[in-house]
Amino acid sequence: MATYETQCSVSYVCSCGSKFPICKLYFCRHCLKLRCGDCVCHEVDSHYCPNCLESLPSAEAKLKKNRCGNCFDCPSCQHTLSTRATTVPVPNPDDPSKTVPKKVYYLACGFCRWTSRDVGLADQTVASGGWIDQENPHNKRLSSILEYYRQLAQKEKAEKERRKYTRRRSYMHFSDQIAPMNLTQAKATLDEKYGLTSVAARKRASITAGIASISLKEGEEVKVSEVTPSVASEEVEELDERFLTEPLLLAGALKSKFGRNPNSVTVCTFTTMKQRLSSTEFQPEDVKDLYPIHKHLLIKRSQRCRECEHNLSKPEFSPASIRFKIQLVALYFVPEVKILALPKLQYLKESRVILSMFNPADYISQVFVRPRENANDYLDTAIMKVPLIELQLAARDDTAEFDDGLTSQQQFKDNPEPEMKDPDGVIVFRKANKIGFYTTVTPQKPTGDVKGSFIIRYTHHNMTNALHTKEGEAPEPEVVWMEHPVLLNFGPITHA
Ligand SMILES: [Zn+2]
Ligand SMILES: [Zn+2]
Ligand SMILES: [Zn+2]
Ligand SMILES: [Zn+2]
Repeated sequence: MATYETQCSVSYVCSCGSKFPICKLYFCRHCLKLRCGDCVCHEVDSHYCPNCLESLPSAEAKLKKNRCGNCFDCPSCQHTLSTRATTVPVPNPDDPSKTVPKKVYYLACGFCRWTSRDVGLADQTVASGGWIDQENPHNKRLSSILEYYRQLAQKEKAEKERRKYTRRRSYMHFSDQIAPMNLTQAKATLDEKYGLTSVAARKRASITAGIASISLKEGEEVKVSEVTPSVASEEVEELDERFLTEPLLLAGALKSKFGRNPNSVTVCTFTTMKQRLSSTEFQPEDVKDLYPIHKHLLIKRSQRCRECEHNLSKPEFSPASIRFKIQLVALYFVPEVKILALPKLQYLKESRVILSMFNPADYISQVFVRPRENANDYLDTAIMKVPLIELQLAARDDTAEFDDGLTSQQQFKDNPEPEMKDPDGVIVFRKANKIGFYTTVTPQKPTGDVKGSFIIRYTHHNMTNALHTKEGEAPEPEVVWMEHPVLLNFGPITHA
């Protein structure tokens, strides 16, 4: 897509100051501001396996260490492993002298030809598998450390809660002091007079419950069991003899040297760092120790505006669906600027550059392009002259292509054929909701990329608090003027 190919050349400045191509920005229609990935809240909606598309609740995903129980990745090239069926001869139970074929299953990589048979994993009799996971040799140590951290976290939480409650108690003295005096009558009168009963009672009840739940008294500490700290050692394991005596061939290099199946070659084979680190618990050094890896789960995320807390993007829950319930991408609201035709840009020489602009909205947009007052903020290396007249963009109409009606050219009456008759014309062409217009660029630096910027000012029809005029009539949108700085990178300067 052109948008993605040209994404480094035209960027918009987000309300937080970051620069992004328009396809990576959101538009909050409640705050009327651009939002980027850095200034929105990211929330996890669901966990799912990208291979079998099974969706898991987050508690279960955590329990399974964010991995799918049924799908595996190739430990050699990280491609998805597939289940292969084959038949092996087994002794006939009725007549042991004869054999009968039996269907068995194993895992194989379609990309590098690694198979579960390479590590000596027994074939399975059912297609769904039942593959035995490797036992982590450090399991005991890891769980004791995890337990230690869990206790530490609990202690911290309890102390925080206690501080909160002790602080809150300070302004409860009034009713607390009354009660122990056992002046029931006095209390009743007071409560009546000041309406203290319900509020105070509720507060006291919640505090008592809170303190009881953490069962901590003043000065009491949560007990944390000790854990033996790891000891650093100066001794390093000796280097494998084979490194010195045999030619070193990394598993990746083997593929090109010996064809597609490195495991059929009996030479010294060491794993690459990528292979080793993709299985962090075991970090196999030898290719023959590579073991199928459970596939990582992916998540569906939704993005929320930090200011107004409205959703800017929310996917549909089903992992199989690629659609969104809410998708407020800036591309749907902000006129998109592209660099259309670029002449050779030379140092201190004024050149005409044609830019194009699209209107994504279904109403006519008025657009002004203004030069930036302080162009140095964005390290501009060129002076840009932009047309100061109003540019009108026709509404987006998906049926326009098939329409014989008034073309947008006739509708807007721009300067006629600018290239031929009027050399100073602004509009180069007009087609449906798209226009091309002239700007001039004068590079101010003899080397490096030519960069310019301008401000785009356009009308936006805000429907979120549309005013209802009369019953039965369509709501009238509020017309607001929006403004964003646009930065353009025209690429490296041409030397004469
Ligand atoms: Zn931002
Ligand atoms: Zn799966
Ligand atoms: Zn593979
Ligand atoms: Zn917002």
